[in-house]
Amino acid sequence: MTIEVGINGYGTIGKRVADAVRAQPDMEVVGVAKTRPNFEAEQAVANDFPLYAAVPERVEQFDEAGIELAGEVEELVQNSEIVVDTTPSGIGAENKAMYEEYDTPALYQGGEDADLVDVSFNARSNFAEAEGADHTRVVSCNTTGLSRLIAALEDEYGVEKVRATLVRRGGDPAQSSRGPINDTLPDPVTIPSHHGPDVNTIFPDLDIDTLGMKVPATLTHTHSVNVELTDETDTEDVRELLEGESRLFVIPDHMGIDGSGKLKEFALDSGRPRGDVWENAIWGESITVEGGDELYLFQAIHQESDVVPENVDAIRAVLGTADRRESIERTDEALGMGLGR
Ligand code: NAD
Repeated sequence: MTIEVGINGYGTIGKRVADAVRAQPDMEVVGVAKTRPNFEAEQAVANDFPLYAAVPERVEQFDEAGIELAGEVEELVQNSEIVVDTTPSGIGAENKAMYEEYDTPALYQGGEDADLVDVSFNARSNFAEAEGADHTRVVSCNTTGLSRLIAALEDEYGVEKVRATLVRRGGDPAQSSRGPINDTLPDPVTIPSHHGPDVNTIFPDLDIDTLGMKVPATLTHTHSVNVELTDETDTEDVRELLEGESRLFVIPDHMGIDGSGKLKEFALDSGRPRGDVWENAIWGESITVEGGDELYLFQAIHQESDVVPENVDAIRAVLGTADRRESIERTDEALGMGLGR
């Protein structure tokens, strides 16, 4: 049985999710919805995704641009077994009533509030909690990056406390309206940032403090992470553990990847679509355990793509068609996870 997936919102995240869903042996994209007839709408049609108008009043604009529509978004929702809502922050909440009207379970993204949904989701951390949920939120890029790391450490050693400073990109490469252009902002200036509480939607009892900054960069976020572990260990042991996780890429010391620029270059050279880095990229040399229980490391999070495999897994989790291990393996194999392996 093929799972019929609709994708509402075909931008940075939506177009990547559409390609990733199409790559799965057990899924099919029944269509994508878009508000405007821009270059991404053209690309959707060029890539043979049936295109639906997200705003009925704008059908004419698509006609004028010569872009063929398959219908309007409500038909897409009706024809889909599950919808992935990849619209901008806050629009998912507006769409919720439409998904309910057609009794179609929906996945939302990290820009929506946690209280919109029944469950917040990260495949490695809480896969089974999403089964049967009508409304599921795949947590943000930063929360996904922190959750994958914490889940591995929690399972192996236990975690007493996490402190993380998130150096965030000002905008995605195509977001010409974002900044800062020449500044470094504590953002938010108040502590903690919202990221820690967001991680608590996945790990409710975790003691975590996060601090946020914003810098004039577009390629990735960079996290400086300190974790106090419950059981004693050493640097080598942690490194081996992290290297064994399929969605963590521990950058080997010899590679000379000194930042996000070379990381993205490596992803492009490796043939990754759009230069995407679906894994957390953890600098191997930064992994350091002090005193047996204080872990430090740096990781880069490719904000445009790390949530993509999580959306694919959330589809199976909600519909109950695979367990965590099966789904992650299937997704990883279909996408070609394992940068540098
Ligand atoms: P985006 O602006 O790149 O894409 C959103 C798409 O939705 C655009 O194609 C837009 O035209 C379309 N759209 C707007 N209104 C719509 C409507 N009413 N119905 C249907 N489509 C509509 O945004 P994005 O970066 O892909 O973000 C989508 C969601 O993913 C947000 O919740 C965001 O917080 C989250 N997210 C973004 C990133 C990131 O770094 N870009 C990372 C993780 C999560």
